[in-house]
Amino acid sequence: MANILIVEDQMDIAESIGDFLTLHGHVVDFAADGLTASNLAMQNSFDLYVLDIGLPGMNGLELCKLLRQNPLLTTPILFLTARDRLEDKLAGFDAGGDDYLIKPFQVAELLARVNALLKRCHNNNELLLTIADLTIDTKQGIVARKEKTINVSPIGYQILLTLAKASPNLVTRQQLETEIWQDIAPDSDAIRSHLYSLRKKIDKPFDRPLIHTVSKRGFRLCE
Ligand code: CA
Repeated sequence: MANILIVEDQMDIAESIGDFLTLHGHVVDFAADGLTASNLAMQNSFDLYVLDIGLPGMNGLELCKLLRQNPLLTTPILFLTARDRLEDKLAGFDAGGDDYLIKPFQVAELLARVNALLKRCHNNNELLLTIADLTIDTKQGIVARKEKTINVSPIGYQILLTLAKASPNLVTRQQLETEIWQDIAPDSDAIRSHLYSLRKKIDKPFDRPLIHTVSKRGFRLCE
């Protein structure tokens, strides 16, 4: 069972996709335009997006680029397009899409592609994250550097995990705060003090720092 957001302005298509996916055990939500979709994406965590390219206002490609601006969003995206042209497909992949389907299509084929994407994505969700000589065992919640286990606080662990998932990409302070505290960050310096103690454990005892501050933009975890 997966949580799927269907973004399609043609009601009949949206309904037939929705009915079929529901019938096969998935939970679906709908949006008929890009703005509604991006708001829903911010409030919920979906396992997959089905995006029509031809949407009113912001089109599906623009919406995909917007969603992919968040380095933490690795949710698979399946494009629907009526335009059977090579450049549209390439633009779809360029925007960060994972697969596409040309309209008109059989809902059974859509389901097969949805399930294939979900499976592939699930397999990619590694249990062990490795950044240089730092490892995070996400199953057991164990952090180690140079094979030496490091005890970090629960918030420190969440910060590290968030940075590791996005690595080598940058995570903004805002994205980090939202990831850790949702809407209610305790105070503006909370991230700074948690990072301070995290650095003391992760970076200080070793020869090279892995946690980097990018001035006025955010943080990244890399060599
Ligand atoms: Ca459309």
